[in-house]
Amino acid sequence: MRAIVIGSGVGGLSAAIRLAAMGLQVLVLEKLPGPGGRAFVHRAQGFTFDMGPTVITVPPFLEDLFATGPGDPRLYPDFPKEEGLKHTERYVKLVPLDPFYRLHFPDGTYFDYKDDPEHLKGEIARIAPEDLEGYRQFEAHAKALFQKGFLELGFTHFGSLLDLLKVAPDLLRLDAVRPLFSLVSRYFKSPKTRQIFSFEPLLIGGNPLKVPALYAMIHFVERHWGVHFAMGGTGALVRGLVRKLEELGGKIRYGAPVRRILTKGRRAVGVVLQDGEKIEADLVVSNADYVHTYGELLAPEDRTWNGDWRLKRTRLSMSLFVAYFASRPGGTKGRGFGTTTSSSLPATRSSCGTSSGGRSSPRTSPTTSTSPPSPTPPWPPRGTTPPTPWSPCPTTGAAWTGGGSAPSTWRRPSATWTRRGTSPGSWTAWSTPTSSPRTTSSGP
Ligand SMILES: Cc1cc2nc3c(=O)[nH]c(=O)nc-3n(C[C@H](O)[C@H](O)[C@H](O)COP(=O)(O)OP(=O)(O)OC[C@H]3O[C@@H](n4cnc5c(N)ncnc54)[C@H](O)[C@@H]3O)c2cc1C
Repeated sequence: MRAIVIGSGVGGLSAAIRLAAMGLQVLVLEKLPGPGGRAFVHRAQGFTFDMGPTVITVPPFLEDLFATGPGDPRLYPDFPKEEGLKHTERYVKLVPLDPFYRLHFPDGTYFDYKDDPEHLKGEIARIAPEDLEGYRQFEAHAKALFQKGFLELGFTHFGSLLDLLKVAPDLLRLDAVRPLFSLVSRYFKSPKTRQIFSFEPLLIGGNPLKVPALYAMIHFVERHWGVHFAMGGTGALVRGLVRKLEELGGKIRYGAPVRRILTKGRRAVGVVLQDGEKIEADLVVSNADYVHTYGELLAPEDRTWNGDWRLKRTRLSMSLFVAYFASRPGGTKGRGFGTTTSSSLPATRSSCGTSSGGRSSPRTSPTTSTSPPSPTPPWPPRGTTPPTPWSPCPTTGAAWTGGGSAPSTWRRPSATWTRRGTSPGSWTAWSTPTSSPRTTSSGP
């Protein structure tokens, strides 16, 4: 059987590895000149930049993927095991980060986020002692959400609306559907602790004022499996996934944009590339954004009216505003660049609300910078440490799209740092689907 996978991002490569292990003849089609998608590696003037993800949570899922071999019939990973990372280590070295994050506030205070509960209590005692009891209660609540939402529901197949309705009472009982920030505010009094324990959705483009409280489980996901960094950068992980796929007989074609998914009846039977080349297959998996897959790759006659209607109501905005910096050796002594991931959070709820819920520019958003643990040869190449600051702009309206609506393409370079006298690097806008009907673009 022949399978085509559209997209060589981490998701597409993972699907391709599973299918190849199942014995299918797999061809990955990627429009970019290399693998990774949002985890693409950009090289400029001797510097190497991970363009997207930098930290890895739940490494047992990767271990499960790297452990797979010919004849493995599983499309999904098993429940995360605690058996180390020996298969992963053949492809990429993952190191646990300590602390996970350093969160900075405008008044100069900071909070080191780690997996050790005693350390966390010490940090809370230092910046907001009045919230120690609130943290004890929040911790118990977040643990219950983790057990239900991740350990149990994460491995439940929801085949019908009835399956979903069955779990609704549990989610309501756990108060999992109210906004995260509202749940956190119930336990914490200080504006700082309120942000510390609700900031994580910003990393994935979610607005803490709007995403459901179920996200509080991230606190325990991170505490349980740690936060990791791939030595050599996330690009090293991508290269490991490509190697795994190739060992299983899978192939990748770069610079091969798919224009259309071909169908017969209700089955996908192949694709047509941008240049008109037709490739037949028994199975087509698209790991491109669903707006692009559904709205552009499927012919109108293969779509349904309600799918089209939902697509029409969907607006695109970027979830992050990323700037890439590089410095020569010894050049990053500034606050916030010494640790792995540093976030500067606005001091109050209102500034968070303005930056993420309104139409303000990303200037007022929290910013996060990431730099690798050192040393990480061979990255960066000249022994330098390129921090990557990015400003989360949840997909609710605070979007700069460079004028006009955001493109469905993954990257939109717009103005270079060179023009501002700093070199190299570029502003990059990312677009992600949002269900907000009011999203419009606003200037930077
Ligand atoms: C700045 C940033 C920081 C992030 N940080 C983290 C982090 O620290 N940790 C974390 O876990 N996650 C992080 N994420 C999220 C993570 O990067 C994504 O969830 C993940 O990379 C998505 O992978 P994917 O394979 O699903 O999609 P993508 O990476 O978007 O891959 C889709 C691929 O499909 C290709 N494609 C699309 N259309 C076509 C077509 N028609 N023909 C051929 N190819 C096509 C694209 O070129 C792309 O390569 C971050 C994201 C960003 C943007």
